[in-house]
Amino acid sequence: MMIIMHPGASKAEVQEVIACIAEQGLSSHVIEGVERTVIGAVGDSHTVSPDAFSVLPGVESVMRISQPYKLASRQFKPENSVIPFNGFSVGGDDVAVIAGPCSVESRTQLLEIAQAVREAGANALRGGVYKPRTSPYAFQGLGEEGLEYLAEARELTGMPIVAEVMSVAQLDVMTKYVDVLQIGARNMQNYSLLRAVGETRTAVLLKRGLSATIEELLMASEYILSGGNRNVMLCERGIRTFETATRNTTDINAIPVLKSLTHLPVILDPSHSTGYYEFVTAIARAGIAAGADGLIIEVHNDPAHALSDGRQSLKPEVFANLVKQVKAIAEAVDRRLAPVARASAV
Ligand code: PEP
Ligand code: MN
Repeated sequence: MMIIMHPGASKAEVQEVIACIAEQGLSSHVIEGVERTVIGAVGDSHTVSPDAFSVLPGVESVMRISQPYKLASRQFKPENSVIPFNGFSVGGDDVAVIAGPCSVESRTQLLEIAQAVREAGANALRGGVYKPRTSPYAFQGLGEEGLEYLAEARELTGMPIVAEVMSVAQLDVMTKYVDVLQIGARNMQNYSLLRAVGETRTAVLLKRGLSATIEELLMASEYILSGGNRNVMLCERGIRTFETATRNTTDINAIPVLKSLTHLPVILDPSHSTGYYEFVTAIARAGIAAGADGLIIEVHNDPAHALSDGRQSLKPEVFANLVKQVKAIAEAVDRRLAPVARASAV
């Protein structure tokens, strides 16, 4: 339910509504807009009458949110959510480019790639340290050692770092290091992980599950938002279809559909979407043309010897060319590439 306050409602009136929401066993989520305050009352509200709130002083109207996701919906928050990072933001006019290896493999590998992607125009650095591999015998990631290399790369390049958290047990160490917690496709419906991430205040990149519908992705984001963590970005990374020519099928439709249903930023991952480096640039261009707020792209200095996802990883010079092309597309749709991080030591 959404409680819309009068433009001139006082702080005390807002507090009274919040107290009433708590009495009904619901939780409140306040959005202070330029004109008025809107309070979301979320939880199991089907037995709660809107009249419980509409009689309170300062309340203009009360509306039920028709979609099953509430805090993620545009009905609840019509304006885009904009997530600030060091020197740029995601979800506004800027288009952000996150790039880096699938896995952090060594200090030299990571630092070399970090400097190359920054020079090419990336805004943030990705790198997995806990890897969700199909085979338990495949490289599983460097763990905390990898986080130390990521932190060093951030220090060197100024780029915020993005890494996947696979379990609740990893959260303490992850939040010590990373700027963005990635929830991988395989964990999109790991509800205890989503709830735990919702309790943190670290930004989240939530990837769409391999066979998840758009509504299921939005419901997953609701778990994080309802814990009070509002810095959530959604990521389309391709879905499973009957097609086997590519690793996954990029659901380009999901980009404008998500942008219409939610205020959360939408990022496209053309690497996992296609699975082959040859197709990554074309799909990156398509994603930005379709209205994505950013891209996350796998780049490796030696793709042939990468410990994971080498086949879809771009060499730095190919990535640099991609950024040039994406810049032109962004400008054609009245956006611009986010500014490159200020480096402390490059
Ligand atoms: C990754 O980003 O390396 C990854 C494992 O992605 P996904 O969860 O989308 O498969
Ligand atoms: Mn990968």
